[in-house]
Amino acid sequence: MSRLVCLCLGVAPGGHTGGELSAGPCTTKVGATSSQDTTISAVSRSWWPNAESHHTVRATIAPVADCLFCKIVAGDIPAERVAESSRTVAFRDINPQAPTHVLVIPKDHYPDLASLASSDADLLAEVAVQAQQVAEAEGIAAGGYRVVFNTGAEAGQTVFHVHAHVLGGRRMAWPPG
Ligand code: AMP
Ligand code: ZN
Repeated sequence: MSRLVCLCLGVAPGGHTGGELSAGPCTTKVGATSSQDTTISAVSRSWWPNAESHHTVRATIAPVADCLFCKIVAGDIPAERVAESSRTVAFRDINPQAPTHVLVIPKDHYPDLASLASSDADLLAEVAVQAQQVAEAEGIAAGGYRVVFNTGAEAGQTVFHVHAHVLGGRRMAWPPG
């Protein structure tokens, strides 16, 4: 589930630009110490304090100890899984708000839509594809369904591991409450 990423800001001569790497860790080590080669739980650069002063930090996306959905991914908390891919999982919401109410999450921990979108757009696309696949499997795709990413407390987000709510099987009201 974990992968190495580089939070390089491209600020040093010889350094690459861009953030997270898929090809492997950055070899340019300007100002990095072993203490910075550590495990952190989120990869968005804006989440990394003192990022300006560190050229390269290698990090492993690891489960967050107190995260409910990381525990579901790990199988430590039971959930009724309805779909799974190598990087995503879909399971029924424990408190359904519609006849079909499924949550689709990345297995890696990103706190919210913003951090996922800015760090791994491909993974966000996988979440969207799985939401559509769930809707098809649940028989709600043709009639219409709703996909919601509550983002931030003001929007009603209570679990800070990004998740798409897939809701359907009844007529949806607009505007949402
Ligand atoms: P949100 O309020 O957008 O963060 O959504 C969190 C959702 O997680 C809510 O709809 C909860 O009902 C749901 N939820 C909380 N605990 C569990 C659980 N153990 N299994 C499945 N869904 C859960
Ligand atoms: Zn998590």
